[in-house]
Amino acid sequence: MATERSAAMIARRRFLWLAGAALAGSTHGVAQAAASAAVRAGAEGLFRVEAAKVPPEELRRVFAKANLGELQQELLRVLNVPPPGAPIRLVIGADATAHRKTVSQLRVATPYRRALYVRDRGQAVVLSYLHDELALDLRHEGTHALLHADQPALPLWLDEGIASYFQEPAPLRPAGGIHHDPLLRDLRGGRMTTLAELEQRSGLSDLTARDYRFAWAWTHYLLHGPHAATRTLWCRLEAGRRRQAIEPLALTLPREIPQPEAALRRHFLQEWPQRLEQAARFSSVRAG
Ligand SMILES: [Zn+2]
Repeated sequence: MATERSAAMIARRRFLWLAGAALAGSTHGVAQAAASAAVRAGAEGLFRVEAAKVPPEELRRVFAKANLGELQQELLRVLNVPPPGAPIRLVIGADATAHRKTVSQLRVATPYRRALYVRDRGQAVVLSYLHDELALDLRHEGTHALLHADQPALPLWLDEGIASYFQEPAPLRPAGGIHHDPLLRDLRGGRMTTLAELEQRSGLSDLTARDYRFAWAWTHYLLHGPHAATRTLWCRLEAGRRRQAIEPLALTLPREIPQPEAALRRHFLQEWPQRLEQAARFSSVRAG
């Protein structure tokens, strides 16, 4: 999620630190070149990697798994999000200590996270470090960075909902991901977070784990529910793209979908599982 830029002096110190790291040794130079090549191969130079002291084979493995080129193509195909006008910097630390140091040098205003999207002097920057879930984090934060280049005033819940949807590897996105099973437990237990409630959240510290889950759930419904729901999302994004007046989806969706909370519940508990089952049957018939 975007945060305020750092002061000029801090930014300069960070630049010098990164520049120093870039010159620190041949291992880093090789690693950076390998990572840049891995990203360029899939993402046409949309991302620029700075990865001090990270082994090149690890970077290649992570970027092959993250598949950021596919992510950018999917954001274009599904939501009409164009490629950004300038490359997005990916600053990957060798470990959590290096990451914390970069985060503190940038004076990131949001609570510390293992991965962050920030803007620094107008440039999109994703910060993280080498860890087991780095590929997922790069897709999540990379989605924020690509979205923000297109959508200057996205509500927090929709920003997080779209990032949570696209953070999963492509084959898992329609069927679920990390939020799916806890969400089903919420819905079966009668728990619901409405769009109107999500629209009230204005800072990352306002978002609970359940808010993230329902932000993902509403996004999934808008993408995979009835065409009227998808059209409402597209219209919202197009209005943002054209800098037009924007009405919250909490107001526009009920005009198209009466009782959207009931529709969301039906989507996850009945309609979507049936569609997945039909798709599985269809593919097994084709395979047979
Ligand atoms: Zn996020």
